[in-house]
Amino acid sequence: MKCAVLTMSLFPAVLAAQATQIVTPHNHGSGQLDFVLSETGFSLTLKVPSMDIVGFEAPAASDDERTQVAIAISELSKPLNLFVVPSEAMCFTTSANVILTHEITDQGTAGDASKGVSDESHAEFQADYVIQCQDLSAVNSLDLAYFERFSGTEKLTVRIASNGTTQFHETTRATPRLSLP
Ligand SMILES: [Zn+2]
Repeated sequence: MKCAVLTMSLFPAVLAAQATQIVTPHNHGSGQLDFVLSETGFSLTLKVPSMDIVGFEAPAASDDERTQVAIAISELSKPLNLFVVPSEAMCFTTSANVILTHEITDQGTAGDASKGVSDESHAEFQADYVIQCQDLSAVNSLDLAYFERFSGTEKLTVRIASNGTTQFHETTRATPRLSLP
């Protein structure tokens, strides 16, 4: 009887481990950008694997890697150089917050030691921006100079929220321009 109870109690742990994997898929090559129009401008939220931006994702281990991270954060702190709107709109950045997050997964304890080490940690650059524009009606396109600036990026899923509607666009290195509603 004790044996049966023990067996039953193991199931939830296994399920929980699988659920964790589903919630945090480990994907590279693709980032997300949220564009939300406001009364006086727009806000942007960017999430992109650090692998795509600097080419590694373990915590920076050398001076060279720390420099690469510092340069990337500096570039990511100028959103209007990466996500370019028409100059007639006269937009400027009022707030830019960029962080590098590290996520350590528990998969090493799940019993599959043969898996590659790349599953053990994942890092992302996450950025929040607030942009103000003097002529919001001129904000009718978005040029993703982002792809030019970061040569390891391939795809960016852009969510555009404006006037109560939400649209999703898949942009790539080959299609780096969007019309805005
Ligand atoms: Zn990763």
